[in-house]
Amino acid sequence: PGGFTAEFVRHDFPILHRTVNGHPLVWLDNAATTQKPRQVIEALTAYYGAANSNIHRGAHTMAREATEAYEAGRAAVADFLGAPGPDSIVFVRGTTEAVNLVAQSWGRADLGPGDDILVPVLEHHSDIVPWQMLAKETRARLVPVPLTPDGEIDQHAYAGLLSSRTRLVAISHASNVLGTVPPVKEMTALAHRYGAKVLVDGAQAVAHFPVDVQDLDADFYAFSGHKLFAPTGIGALYVRPDLVSGLAPWQGGGNMIESVDFGHTTFAPAPHRLEAGTGHISGVIGLLAAVNWLTSLDRESVAAYEEGLMTYALQALATVPGLDLIGSAPDRIAVLTFTLAGHDPTTVADWLDHDGIAIRAGHHCAQPALAHYGLTSAARASLALYNTSAEVDQLVASLRRLQQST
Ligand code: PMP
Repeated sequence: PGGFTAEFVRHDFPILHRTVNGHPLVWLDNAATTQKPRQVIEALTAYYGAANSNIHRGAHTMAREATEAYEAGRAAVADFLGAPGPDSIVFVRGTTEAVNLVAQSWGRADLGPGDDILVPVLEHHSDIVPWQMLAKETRARLVPVPLTPDGEIDQHAYAGLLSSRTRLVAISHASNVLGTVPPVKEMTALAHRYGAKVLVDGAQAVAHFPVDVQDLDADFYAFSGHKLFAPTGIGALYVRPDLVSGLAPWQGGGNMIESVDFGHTTFAPAPHRLEAGTGHISGVIGLLAAVNWLTSLDRESVAAYEEGLMTYALQALATVPGLDLIGSAPDRIAVLTFTLAGHDPTTVADWLDHDGIAIRAGHHCAQPALAHYGLTSAARASLALYNTSAEVDQLVASLRRLQQST
């Protein structure tokens, strides 16, 4: 449907036309970070070349222009996530900072001894460690939700772990290590029955399929710009409107206050009270360009293309002797994590790099998920909308050569 192919967008990405080690670049490390279209690069150049200014203060034309662009970014992110309005969007450095913000601001105020935080074993460290730190501080309990053998969240176990003690469930909308896309909407509805809040980590989701935070009924939704074709150092946290105004500031400084004297400070309304200091203005401008670029495409058709490419890649990889794919959830994105018999993952990544193919090797910041498979390290190829079946063929051919070389 829609007939999207990678060729529609590849010319937008200058970096995809470079070579690495004498070979055309094959970028299959999209779960780590995506490449940037020229629309994003040009927006950054235009901002620094002609429009640089601080925002929210200073009564001059350029301050006003920068403020408008920054707030247009907030409105665009709200639309992109299906949020009811811009005031429910907080700009952060990325998903990690978003989770820490929720832990420190909401969590510190609301959690105490006897409370449970439920976190699937599948999660990225950034959706485990902040909760572990918070649990230690508040004497709440961090409860892992187990996985099934194919890498799905065990829904039976989840239902059994929920109770009136559960205050928070933190789930990824797509796993960065197994690609699993859990039934977040259903899990959220179940959590809400117990009065728990739900944080959804959308870091791996937003680039792959449309997200509607109101349809999910999420309380918090976080993502990183750099995995969404935007610059590093910028991301967003959606907070449900009835929660956002009650969130206590977590960092103090400029931009987040209404008035300050040495006895007392009053804070600006949300979301500004949660954004201390000068924001990442160019980051927001880049994010705005990225969101505009992505939403100019027919996203259903992009998702259908990615699904077709993933099916192709799964079948092609399965033909490589000694290759074991980790995780086989039916609902998934194209994060293809594998081991290759006789070669450690770092050797595999090095070999592919000599052929200009970029993948990641290691623990993927998800040690508990890999441990579920008895692994400490694996190789991971992760696809994006600009990847092609020819690139998948190159990956497979290179892996076959590695197997034949030994
Ligand atoms: N959650 C998931 C599922 C991720 O894949 C990542 C990045 N690998 C993060 C959180 C952390 O994102 P960032 O490093 O951009 O804060």
